[in-house]
Amino acid sequence: MMKIEKNSEIAEIFHNYLDEVNYEGLLSVANFSEVYNSVMDEQKQYLESICGVKFNNYVDFGSIISLGIAYHPETIESINIKEESGYNKELWNQYGYEYSHLNKMLKEISEKIAKLYNGIAIPPTTETPSKEIRNVKDFFPNTLSHRAVAENAGLGWRGKNELLITYEYGPAIRFVSILVSLKFIEGKRIDSQCGECNACLEICPILREKSNLKDYRENCRLYLNSLGLVHDVCGKCIKACFKEIISRKR
Ligand code: SF4
Ligand code: SF4
Repeated sequence: MMKIEKNSEIAEIFHNYLDEVNYEGLLSVANFSEVYNSVMDEQKQYLESICGVKFNNYVDFGSIISLGIAYHPETIESINIKEESGYNKELWNQYGYEYSHLNKMLKEISEKIAKLYNGIAIPPTTETPSKEIRNVKDFFPNTLSHRAVAENAGLGWRGKNELLITYEYGPAIRFVSILVSLKFIEGKRIDSQCGECNACLEICPILREKSNLKDYRENCRLYLNSLGLVHDVCGKCIKACFKEIISRKR
């Protein structure tokens, strides 16, 4: 088995890219079958369809590389700032702009690595236009949960906000995944480190009520649409958690 270390070829390509674009990030590897077994049925079918005739080969020998690029901290600070006249949406939109920029970079570097290793890059977001989405479930058959890959690759734990929480950047990081028919030494899952913290639940009534809702993700999607921000994002649960993780680091 190969190990992805700082000096290994894939890590070197990724870290050189991060230096070029002036961002920080994380990389690890998950076992293909473990990810496959951990995702919902629609995503199992998605994996089967993109692997095609090579599906069994991926089950036996496959890995999924998880790459994450972190937001700049000042972008996270611009989320949900209330002023006398209301929320500063111009500032809040910085989060949406960087969200889109991170997706573009993740797509670029994942496609480059996939090409070099004869793998398959899974885009960071679904390419279905949001106006065609009538329910959050419409997203599920068209992508893989990059959070599930990062979780299986040991890059962080699943927080009470359902995001992947890293020690380094909290949830202020976006992920992409690359399927490769190669075995690497894989990361190990991390138990929740949320402890007594409830910061994300305190900021978001939808998260607080998630166990009483049919599917909190649909309530979240409707709320994002109602905000009228670019790229239909919100980020309040990311900011609350980012502050908590940064204060722990201090
Ligand atoms: S994105 Fe916003 S609405 Fe959705 S769970 Fe997070 S804080 Fe709540
Ligand atoms: S804000 Fe606190 S409870 Fe929520 S995910 Fe982050 S660490 Fe966990």
